[in-house]
Amino acid sequence: MSFDVILLRFGEWTLKGKNKSVFAKKLLENVKEKCKEFSSVRITQEHGRMFVELNGQPYEPVIEKLQEVFGLVGFSPAIRVKNDLEAIKKAALSIVRGEKNVQTFKVVSKRSNKKFPIRSLALNQQIGGHILANAQPIRVDVHQPDLSVYVEVRSTGTYVYGKDVPGLGGLPVGTSGKVLLLLSGGIDSPVAGYLSLKRGVELEAIHFHSYPYTSERAKQKVIDLAQILTRFGGKIRLHVVPFTEIQTEINKHCYESYSITIMRRMMLRIAEAIAQRRKALALVTGESLGQVASQTLESMNTINAVTHLPILRPLIGLDKQEIITISKKIGTYETSILPYEDCCTVFLPKAPKTKPEKEVASRLESRLDMDRLIKEAVEQTEMIEVKPESPETFSYFS
Ligand code: ATP
Ligand code: MG
Repeated sequence: MSFDVILLRFGEWTLKGKNKSVFAKKLLENVKEKCKEFSSVRITQEHGRMFVELNGQPYEPVIEKLQEVFGLVGFSPAIRVKNDLEAIKKAALSIVRGEKNVQTFKVVSKRSNKKFPIRSLALNQQIGGHILANAQPIRVDVHQPDLSVYVEVRSTGTYVYGKDVPGLGGLPVGTSGKVLLLLSGGIDSPVAGYLSLKRGVELEAIHFHSYPYTSERAKQKVIDLAQILTRFGGKIRLHVVPFTEIQTEINKHCYESYSITIMRRMMLRIAEAIAQRRKALALVTGESLGQVASQTLESMNTINAVTHLPILRPLIGLDKQEIITISKKIGTYETSILPYEDCCTVFLPKAPKTKPEKEVASRLESRLDMDRLIKEAVEQTEMIEVKPESPETFSYFS
């Protein structure tokens, strides 16, 4: 049996009233972009439905790719036939035969095309009868069937399908504005990036790099992580900030127990400046609650105080194990656990303050040449375009 089209099922965004067309347009773009590599495939739309016309292309690899597109909750490979009862019966039977271990089934017909002479209930009976007679042993179970055979009679033809392969859900990427993700080389921040993409944002990323304390490979690791995220979000601009001087200055002039707090405040100030340039409306971090010293509420208050931008923390309520499960699912885990040090581990104090105070942090910062340090770091930030199709990157100073 070969399928003619894949029927795409939409998520919650279809409830968006007036804005629906904006979401549909963006989703169409994202689906087209994903399907670019399949030369015979075309995307079509009809009355609020979106179809992938396969034109001979096997459906499995296409669905696999589309399982990386937010805004789609499910996929059904379908056979399309003329609006003719015999052809519909034959298609329905081949759907049943194409599935393994089906002992019970039901037929669910929908007659969108009212010119078709047979009503839905009668259609269910006639098609069901044909399947019962030809796919023995099999029974009808209208409550909990192993397989539901869907029949949709439309003006352009009848679609017959059974399988429902789940999609990612969420909102189409590019419909919620732009955010800037603070991307370290760890497990958490790539997951935070993924979860914010799930809510439809356009993502750029910023990484603080302390060469030579952290190696070129540590930077490459972050580029690789961004590369994996492009599967879900398309091209990602990664801003790499030289952070060495700031870290050494902090270490020279500030109490060791406050170094992480001040380092984080510096990161946020620089991230805010880059966000402004790039017109990003929020920052995203991989922080969870209570995971480490800088992730207590007291710490977050003191760190957060330096920026007016909203900081999204998609992992706030997740346990480490839940975060790891997602990172394995999205494919970032293996890269995240590579042992290259990052700037926080290199300068990790023995006893970081779990309840740092704003006033103390500000007082310590007054020993630093803040304006110059921030200005120089922003000016020397390198921008790398990380693209889905190739690891080749194009880099320049922003
Ligand atoms: P991760 O696994 O994402 O590194 P973490 O559990 O190690 O997180 P922290 O080291 O406290 O936690 O970092 C908290 C958040 O700060 C990170 O999730 C990330 O968003 C941001 N961050 C930390 N280090 C960097 C860095 N070098 N560059 C950019 N962002 C960073
Ligand atoms: Mg980390």
